[in-house]
Amino acid sequence: MTKLFLFDIEGTTTDIHFVHKVLFPYSEKRMRDFILLHKDDPKISEAIKNVQDTVFEEEQKKLTLDEIIDKLIAWIHSDRKHSALKEIQGHIWDLGYSKNDFKGHVYEDVHPFFRSILNSGKKIAIYSSGSVHAQKLIFGYSEAGDLTPLISYYFDTKIGGKRESTSYSNIAHAVKLSPSEIHFFSDIPEELSAAKSAGLKVTQVLRPGTKSSLFPSIESFEELYP
Ligand SMILES: [Mg+2]
Repeated sequence: MTKLFLFDIEGTTTDIHFVHKVLFPYSEKRMRDFILLHKDDPKISEAIKNVQDTVFEEEQKKLTLDEIIDKLIAWIHSDRKHSALKEIQGHIWDLGYSKNDFKGHVYEDVHPFFRSILNSGKKIAIYSSGSVHAQKLIFGYSEAGDLTPLISYYFDTKIGGKRESTSYSNIAHAVKLSPSEIHFFSDIPEELSAAKSAGLKVTQVLRPGTKSSLFPSIESFEELYP
């Protein structure tokens, strides 16, 4: 019997385009002012130095502060996964969420489904490649309000990659359940396949644009409301 419901975020609880259409453009728009205002904060000045070092290694150019800002914006466009960019974006998004400039997108069926899970005495966990910090922001400042009190566990790729079955065994171990007591929802067949190999129950969530697969699927969590 299922005791824990485990959710992917992007493409499952949340529009797959939220990051690229809301978060990335917001960080681009705020990048210049944010850097100019915070360039002397220890974490930000370290990140600025990291960008400078990376560009020096790759292009043998020593960038000015203005050029560093341009480079960071170029990296947003090319979706470069550079730790300095992620660090700075994280701070910009913290401010954006807390000022209510945008909210974490969650589909309308998510909050009622979360409620029905808790009402039946079961628990909720999240497993996403975004950091646990970023996950808590999406659900803490979501369009459906603060959903974090409903969520018992958060996992990111520190527990392992989403397409590796050991990650799902690690999650089962971390929550002290047998894999068969966990039900995993994702839009990505490779993730469902990895979870299934570890013994989890799996369902594919088919949001607009998701390609279907051979896994059992739903188009909305409403299909599972009791
Ligand atoms: Mg996904």
